[in-house]
Parts: sequence; structure tokens; C-alpha cells
Amino acid sequence: MQTKSKLLLFVALMLLGLGLATIINVSLNFRDYSIKNATQRATMTAAIVKDGLTAHMVNGIMDKRSYFLNQISHNNDKIKKLWIVRSKKVVQQYGKGFHSETVRDAIDKQVLTTGKMVQKITESADNSMLRITIPYKAVVGSGADCLSCHNVQRGDTLGVISMEFNITNMRNDGMFTILKILAINIIFIIVVLLLINHYVTPYLKLFSDMQQGIRKAYKGDFSHEFQTSVAGDAKKIINHLNTLFRKMQETFGDIKYNLATFVPQGCISSTDPLQEAKIIIDELSDIYKFKKTIEHDATKDVVYSRIVDVLKNKYALSHFAFYEVDTVKSIRKLIYISNGESICNDEVDLDASLCRAHRTNTSVISSEFTNLCQECACNDLEYICIPFTINDENSLIISVTSKDKNELNKINSYIQSIENYLEAAKPVIESKILMSKLRDTSLRDAMTGMYNRRFLEEFIDTVASQAKRDQTTYSILMLDVDFFKKVNDTYGHDVGDKVIAKIGEVVLDSIRESDLAIRYGGEEFVIMLHNANDEGTMKIATKIHSEFAKLIFDAGNGQTLQKTMSIGIAKFPKDGDTIWKCIKYADTALYVAKTTGRNKIVEYKKEMSENDNLR
Ligand code: GH3
Ligand code: MG
Ligand code: MG
Repeated sequence: MQTKSKLLLFVALMLLGLGLATIINVSLNFRDYSIKNATQRATMTAAIVKDGLTAHMVNGIMDKRSYFLNQISHNNDKIKKLWIVRSKKVVQQYGKGFHSETVRDAIDKQVLTTGKMVQKITESADNSMLRITIPYKAVVGSGADCLSCHNVQRGDTLGVISMEFNITNMRNDGMFTILKILAINIIFIIVVLLLINHYVTPYLKLFSDMQQGIRKAYKGDFSHEFQTSVAGDAKKIINHLNTLFRKMQETFGDIKYNLATFVPQGCISSTDPLQEAKIIIDELSDIYKFKKTIEHDATKDVVYSRIVDVLKNKYALSHFAFYEVDTVKSIRKLIYISNGESICNDEVDLDASLCRAHRTNTSVISSEFTNLCQECACNDLEYICIPFTINDENSLIISVTSKDKNELNKINSYIQSIENYLEAAKPVIESKILMSKLRDTSLRDAMTGMYNRRFLEEFIDTVASQAKRDQTTYSILMLDVDFFKKVNDTYGHDVGDKVIAKIGEVVLDSIRESDLAIRYGGEEFVIMLHNANDEGTMKIATKIHSEFAKLIFDAGNGQTLQKTMSIGIAKFPKDGDTIWKCIKYADTALYVAKTTGRNKIVEYKKEMSENDNLR
């Protein structure tokens, strides 16, 4: 129901209620008044009858009483009936009297017995009657002495005077009055409703117009123009509101457009544009702070650890793995994993193209298809794998797992937001990769692809302290080509260079990723084997030694040459408590190899440092 109809109905009901209350009140009062009035008249008439009868009695003309009573009835058209009844004592003394003077009903009897007046109203559809019966008592004085004639006591009831009055006219008068009041009330209600309708309608129109405008504004549309025919303050308010809405339309429209360019739609779940703007601004603020922080981080690895922190703290991800993919080599490297093992088969690390998310460059969500990623080794887990490209050579994969499908849906709604973070991190990661590449070039030897001596000088302390902390060991191999000068001297430097470059290949093919290979000097190399036992160390040293010896170099002009190398080995921390010391001991062992015939592998022994003959 419309507000206006409701209001009018409410007012009409209120006024009707008020009118009814007035009518009921008036009619009750009117009835009381009518009855009182009729009773008074009846009482007065009864008194006249009583006095008249007394006068008849005093004057000894009681036999003329019928005439008197008839005259009274005749002169008062309201009196329908008038009769008198003798009491038993009077009957005993004077006889029954006229036939009409006997007890007619219970009221006559009651008044005779009790000596108290009774009045009763009888109402029917057509008329209303007031019956009144008053006692006629024996009195002495005021010109009459009842006891002088009657054989009764003072105060005894000599008889009753009964009358019936027609009060129908009074009732009709009352009804007429009530109808008049009702008519006045109805006219009043109609006038009030018309006035309300006239004055309230413009306000109600304004109210519904405002509702409409505010509803649109709630959806971010401030284009509504408020209108009203009401003058005065309402008009002023509407003008202010229109100004405010125009401003909002101009500024908010711009904000919405600009924000949408920062954060793509879809990552916002709210339908309230102001709430939406707040979410976007909060998100942008968080991302801005994140970006500012990672820009000052020293390395790519620190940036990665920040991304892990965001995933853990902002998105409350408890089970996830974070990978870096070398797209050129198609190798996947694990950066972080929250709970032990990766859900992927082991082969994926060696061939990143097996990773569906990486291959398709789209998020892989397990709930979308049964057994979606063929390389997933855990059938009881749901997963979402989010790929993210950093540049032509590097990309990232975040693989989130859960046993619960609902949680997975929740994580799914985070994807866009997570990608916003990765997008912010992208240029920073790119620049860190570039920096480390530049640094790598300055720390690497171009001819062999190995680290150079500068690397050893800069990083050996870090490597050593890390080794101490992790309790790792390094077997240090010092390599030197036997009689290398002869190569240069006989075949020229170019041939010598070829030999050196080939050593790089042989060495790098023989060692693992965790091992370090350094071109220490001209044709002298230091190799640090990570956590290799004695047997493994010797195996690798022997492999390098024999592979190199097998090589046949083209020296030009149809000539070939073969070379051998000598290797000295020392072990950290078994032989020395610092890596530098161990390098020195490996050099000592190499020296021993050189001085005891060359083309051999010699392990460092303490005596070598103590015994000059062995050096
Ligand atoms: P030994 O068996 O005692 O080691 O004899 P050797 O002749 O190999 O002596 P040494 O190791 O001292 O010789 C190093 C030589 O390597 C000196 C230098 O001419 C040569 N050399 C150093 N760097 C380069 C390089 O980059 N290219 C070439 N072609 N030769 C180099
Ligand atoms: Mg040499
Ligand atoms: Mg040398």
C-alpha cells in the first residue's frame, strides 16, 4: 500500500474512532439525561397525584378520585397509564375500592411491601416506556393527618401510585441528535482528509523521489535530479541535495573509472560502489606498501620470501608451494613449501612443460575437471595452481592445496588479488634478476663459464659461514695443466685458450649444481665439491682427470695434442678450519703432485705442510 493511502487511512480511522467515541459519549449522556428528565416529571406527577388524593380524602370526596386521575392523564399526553393500588390495611378498613385499584404486577407488589419507589424502562423497536411506582405513605402534619382516618402507623404504606410514561419521543430526539453529530463528524473527516491530501501529497512525492534518487546513489549512480513543488525549507534542502549529487556524480564517476583501471573487476565482491572503492583503495594501499618494501630488498630471494609472507598472512594460506621456472631450460625450482612434499610428480621439476599451469599459462583449478593435472600425485587433495610470467626467461607458479572444496572456492576468489601482488612484484623481480645477471657476469669467467677469482674472494666467507652453520663439508680440488706453457709456446695462445675452455666443459659436466667451480688463475682451477665423501671426491677428481687426458685437441696444420693435469685435494673442515686454509692445502697437494711426477691426483696430508721435502 502506498504511503499516502496508508496515511489517509490512518487519519480517517483516527477521526472515525474519535467521532464514534464522541457519539457513544453523547448518546449515553443523552439517555441518562432523558431518563432523569422523565423520572423527574413522573415523580412530580406522582407528587401531584398524591397531594390531589390527600386533598380528596381531607375534603371527603374520595369517590370523585377517578375523575381527578383521568384529568391528570388527560392533561399530560406523556402519561400512558395512571393507576393507584390500595394496601392491604386500607383494603381491610375501607374495602377493595374500584376494580382498577388492585395490584397489577410485581412492581406494585414490591413497592407495597418495601415502601420504596421503583422505576423501570422498557424499550422495544417502536417505543420506549418509563414505568414508575411510588409509595403513598401515612403522614401526620402539613394539613393532613392520615392516622386520623386510617387504622395505620405513621410511615406505613397506604398504597402506591403507578404510572407509565411514553418516552419514545425523547429517544427519537436522542437518535436524531446522534445522527446530526455523525453527519458533522463525517463531513469533518472528509474535509480533513482532503486537506491532508492537498498538503501532504507534494511531501510524499518528494519523499518517493528522494527514495528513488538515494536507491540509485547506493548503486553508484548520482545522476538523479530531485524535484519538488514544495516551497520554503524543503526546496532549499532539495537544491543542496542536487548540488551534492552533481558533485558526487562528477568526482565519484572519475574515481570509479580510475580505480577500475588499477584493479580489474572481478576481484571485488561488493555490490556497493562505495564499499567497492574502499576495498580497491585498501588493496592498492597494501600493494603499494608491499611494492615499496620489496624495492629496497637486496635480492630476488628476499622478494620471494615477502610473497610467501603475503600468501601466509594476508590470504591465510596454510598449504602451498611456490616455484620459480626457468623457461629457457624448462626447469622448475622449489622456492618454498609449507608442508613437506610437493603434490607434483618429481619429473615436473626437471621438465617444467609437464606443469599444466606453466604450459597453459592459466590457473589450474582441480574442481573444474576430474584429474585435471596429470602430474598431480595426490588424488585426495584439491588444488589451484596459479602461473605468473615475469619475463621471457622466468615465471612463477603458486600451487595451493586443500582437502576442502569450500576452502578451495575461497582461495579461487583470491587469485585476482594474488596476481595483483605478483604484478606489483614483477618489475622488482625482473630488475633483481637483471642485477644478479650483471653481477654474475662480473663474477664469471667468460672463457670457461666458471666463477672467477673475484667471486671466490667476495663470497667465500659467506659460503664458509653457511657451511659451518649447516655443518656441510667441501672437498677442494686444485687443478693445473701440466706443462701448459709448452702449448702456448708450440701452438700459440689460441690453441692454449681452446684447452682452457675445454677444461671448463669437462669440469662443469662432472660436478653437481651445488658444487662450485672457479677459474683460479691462468690454467689453474679450484673446484669445491659440496658434501662429497672421500670416495665421491676421488671419483669426481678421477673423472675430471681422465676425461681431460682423453681429449685430443686440434692444434692446426693437421697436428693434434693431448694434455694431462695434476690435481691436489684438501677437505674442509677435516684438513683446515677455514676454506682459505683448505685452498692453500689443496695447492700444497697440487705442488706435491707437480713435484712428484705430475699427471696425478694427490690428497693433502698434514705432513706435507710440515715436511719441506714433500713440497
Ligand atoms: P706446470 O706443469 O708446472 O704447471 O707447468 P706449466 O707450464 O703449466 O706452468 P704454469 O702452470 O706456471 O703455466 C701457466 C701458463 O699458462 C703461463 C701462461 O702463459 C699460461 N696462461 C695463463 N693464462 C692463459 C690464458 O688465458 N690463455 C693461454 N693460452 N695461456 C695462459
Ligand atoms: Mg701448469
Ligand atoms: Mg699454472
